[in-house]
Amino acid sequence: MHEILRVQKLGKNHGGYHGETIDIRAVLNEVETATQSRGWASEIFHAHDGFKWLALHRSPEAASQKSEVGIYISAGIHGDEPAGPLAALKLLQENHWPPDIEIFLLPCLNPAGFTLNKRENADGTDLNRDYRNPQAAETRAHIAWLERQPKFDLYLCLHEDWESHGFYLYEQNPYAKPSLAEKMIGAVQKVCPIDQSETIEERAAKNGIVRPNISPQERPDWPEAFYLITQKSRRGYTLEAPSDFPLPVRVNALVAAVNAALINLL
Ligand SMILES: [Zn+2]
Repeated sequence: MHEILRVQKLGKNHGGYHGETIDIRAVLNEVETATQSRGWASEIFHAHDGFKWLALHRSPEAASQKSEVGIYISAGIHGDEPAGPLAALKLLQENHWPPDIEIFLLPCLNPAGFTLNKRENADGTDLNRDYRNPQAAETRAHIAWLERQPKFDLYLCLHEDWESHGFYLYEQNPYAKPSLAEKMIGAVQKVCPIDQSETIEERAAKNGIVRPNISPQERPDWPEAFYLITQKSRRGYTLEAPSDFPLPVRVNALVAAVNAALINLL
């Protein structure tokens, strides 16, 4: 514990992310390997330039289908945020999914961005601003896939922030359902510092929790989360790992947050 609390910023991120990069093709190959023999269905909902966009689906175990809870988890929409796809891979490899929960896991929404270590896709589009009037082929394919899915009880979007002083999250909970925010922060703080800033990205924050009061209708450039909260889910979180910290710390932070949400959902 004391070891963990001494984790410090690396001081590498000046003007953007300058930390470790990943070989996204190798990571996605490992993802596919991890899903095999573990009961996951894998769908390719888009392919371009040698990349495959994967949607993984895990049904609740037949013996324990007492609930119909579905969770959507996505990662890798920004190509300079490697902890997201790595966290998706680690969650698959650890394979500690609650048996009653149906999981939809999209491990990487912007594979080309990772080969460039860029936030945007290969054409320079920030895909996470493309969900209101989608222009990019991968956003359109993603939304077409989403339209074929049932509603989700919860969405979790895995991100990183190159400027932040620790982990934080955004909560979207317009129907005042039970919040999972404090549970996730409580789990993450054992493995990664929490950003204690009172303002994060120009919004009020408390103990790493940002509860933005924004009407999606007032914003022209929707992130994925706005599409999800208006069309697919009544509650969700955007998780932000601090990318000026060592990569394993950030991966562990995202994994801890997801596991805390899963455990406390039912
Ligand atoms: Zn991001």
